[in-house]
Amino acid sequence: MSSALSPSLDAVLPPLDLHAHVDPGVTTEQLQTLGNAIVFAVTRTIDEADAVGSRDDDRILWGAGSHPGLAKALDAYSSGRFRNVLEHVDFVGEVGMDRKLEHDRALEVLADSIAAAADAGKPSSVHSTGCHAAVVEVIGSASKGVVLHWFTGSQRLIDRAASAGAYFSINAAMSDNRISALPPSRLLPETDFPFTKRSGSRQPGDIETLERRCSVLLGLSRDELRQMWYSNLRELYQHMGGDVEVPTALHRALLAA
Ligand SMILES: [Zn+2]
Repeated sequence: MSSALSPSLDAVLPPLDLHAHVDPGVTTEQLQTLGNAIVFAVTRTIDEADAVGSRDDDRILWGAGSHPGLAKALDAYSSGRFRNVLEHVDFVGEVGMDRKLEHDRALEVLADSIAAAADAGKPSSVHSTGCHAAVVEVIGSASKGVVLHWFTGSQRLIDRAASAGAYFSINAAMSDNRISALPPSRLLPETDFPFTKRSGSRQPGDIETLERRCSVLLGLSRDELRQMWYSNLRELYQHMGGDVEVPTALHRALLAA
């Protein structure tokens, strides 16, 4: 098994990152340092999401978020405004629940934001630190397009979420055991940059370390692994209805995988 990726495949199926933090004010020039990676960039507040709505970047998909670890984000959330903002972005993220903050409000915001995502036919990137059971409960059977990011819940919760249709985005800071516990047909790559810097992600879209490890863990070549990410993502979009517009580079990769 080769641990290198064929350059020709890398051009068609670029590095993919389902969850990274990118400054909403980043310039087009700065984005060029990310190479050809396709990055799902989350926002933390409805104001940030509003600000990215007018952007048009070739390889960055922007999310509408209300970060569950930020009280001001939860306070500022409004269902109507969130739905308006969502029309101008590509997905919902980062939303979810976090042990740090009040339960009821966070639950309400999570339930409403993933419902908005499902209505719009767009994926959602969901945070669940310290609240795995509650999050799996909320997504319930309405898990179309839900991607549980950096999920470290029990095997029972993994099975429940997977049978409800959820996907899991994994990063290089997760242990081999955590990654191996998840169903390969539901795996997607992420960096959660900058939070995985110490585990080897140098920038958003840098999934090199993750791919080297997953290649060994899953017994796949790097090429097969890259194809798996995109075919999993294609299925996620198909489950959602599949007619939402995505940037050309992503559209091409989804068709090629
Ligand atoms: Zn994050």
